Amino acid sequence: MCEKKDTIEAAIKKLQKGNQDFVKTEKNNGDVSQTVRIKNVEAGQKPYAVVVTCSDSRVPPEHIFSAGIGELFVIRTAGNVVGDFELGSIEYAAGHLGTSVVLVLGHNHCGAVAAAMQGHGHGYIASILEEIHPAIEGEENVSKCENLNIDNSIKRILQSETINNLISEGRVKVLGGKYNMESGVVEFFG
Ligand SMILES: [Zn+2]
Repeated sequence: MCEKKDTIEAAIKKLQKGNQDFVKTEKNNGDVSQTVRIKNVEAGQKPYAVVVTCSDSRVPPEHIFSAGIGELFVIRTAGNVVGDFELGSIEYAAGHLGTSVVLVLGHNHCGAVAAAMQGHGHGYIASILEEIHPAIEGEENVSKCENLNIDNSIKRILQSETINNLISEGRVKVLGGKYNMESGVVEFFG
């Protein structure tokens, strides 16, 4: 178990270091070579973190964490909302691929959160806003709403029995983070 705790801490440090590198550079230094492509096919994928984030084109996780091929297991929905398909994907990564860290990455200027604050939405967009709305109800500060929405997705993930078991065994950690679009900096929560 102690070894797993080290793995969790190393994964979080890798995310933090990757983000620090991203802020300092103008290109992605992740390994996207043919060698790494083949290695990940032959040995199988072993991503060190699951990143659940917004589909917003300005929030690209592999760039934000200077990650190459096979490093991040990424789940993206508008507003980083989590439903059954997303939960199943997270369970697969944590349970079958052995990924030890699940990061829910929200961001500033999130259009989905802003739309939920205004309460508008047609078609299937409404289902996204219905997921966000109860979590932010009564809060008028945009930044706080974005944070509450991150918390809500974490709460959804914790509804999974598989994830809960892995957490109690000390094999998985779920945490939140927020990406600042202008600075490129990710603030990690807990
Ligand atoms: Zn967003």
